[in-house]
Amino acid sequence: MKNIYGVTQAELEQYFLNQNQGKFKATQVFEWLYKKRVKDFASMSNVGKENIEKLTRDFSMTPLKLLTKKVDTDVSKYLFELEDNNRIEAVLMNHDYGNSLCISTQVGCNMGCRFCESGRLKKVRNLDASEMVRQILAVEEDAKIRISHVVLMGIGEPFDNYEEVISLIDIINTPKGIDIGSRHITVSTSGIVPKIREFALYEKQVNLAISLHAPNNEIRSSLMAINKAYPIEELMDAIRYYYQKTNRRVTFEYILLKGVNDSREHAKELSQLLKGMNCYVNLIPYNETSHIEYKKSDPTTILNFYDELKKNNISVTIRREFGSKVSAACGQLRANYEEES
Ligand code: SAH
Ligand code: SF4
Repeated sequence: MKNIYGVTQAELEQYFLNQNQGKFKATQVFEWLYKKRVKDFASMSNVGKENIEKLTRDFSMTPLKLLTKKVDTDVSKYLFELEDNNRIEAVLMNHDYGNSLCISTQVGCNMGCRFCESGRLKKVRNLDASEMVRQILAVEEDAKIRISHVVLMGIGEPFDNYEEVISLIDIINTPKGIDIGSRHITVSTSGIVPKIREFALYEKQVNLAISLHAPNNEIRSSLMAINKAYPIEELMDAIRYYYQKTNRRVTFEYILLKGVNDSREHAKELSQLLKGMNCYVNLIPYNETSHIEYKKSDPTTILNFYDELKKNNISVTIRREFGSKVSAACGQLRANYEEES
């Protein structure tokens, strides 16, 4: 049975229209779900007894089961269990500009990036939109806060689960839903070129982040298997097309790995690659994990890399390090939990 939290407003309107009822019924149900946050259909007092019975027959409303959480000063990590016992994570980060939640999009990931904990476990399945929406609802309820920003940077490759990710964006963006502004939603991809091109035509003004992590094909292919399918030239072409269609600046994520991609030469090469593009580089200090041999770069190496990009007029920031104490890198909490239990 489909979970109601994965139904878009348009789909619910169609559901009521199919029964010769007004589509405003869908608005009412959305308000009960996302504004009043009721826990069962029976509480939806203005939708009518027959509708309550029908909704109860047609949809489930089960929340996600919170298995464990780890809380630090500005970051909390949540581990959830799905109905089929698979586990996923979400990470809440408290910024001065609001609360941002990093959510998972799949159980495991098939992209197999060598530095990533999520890639160690092959994809088991896609999450449906309700499982993504319910991560947000569960964290808001547990932490008693409102999420202002959502980033699709947890476990999984969002563009390997395109349809459900689009439904998720729809559900959380609609004013009658959780009402998170499209500019406060960021999708991160390892670089699935055809989907970047499709996303360029998507009507909502959502942010796009690209996991680049290397200045050339040789290094990128050694880190990310996807680069063999879609090398840097094709990726850059798709990003230029995205920019042409949306006029939106993309963010490049670049993890600094000691001795691998972090020299001044690499920074120069990266500057060359990005020259003239309207973009922004986010340097990410690597979050070391016990299963993977890569090490994070030294602070001075990170600063030198940053300086070199600046010198070449590339907009760049160094990501604040969140939650290394609470295993915040994607996939780490689940991996640790499974080893401890
Ligand atoms: N699959 C998508 C989104 C999830 S990964 C993607 O790859 O973009 C989100 C980001 O976390 C990516 O940039 C990824 O490269 C990065 N990441 C993965 N493991 C990490 C680690 N151990 N330390 C720091 N960043 C990591
Ligand atoms: Fe998958 Fe992203 Fe991890 Fe690569 S970095 S394995 S694409 S989750």
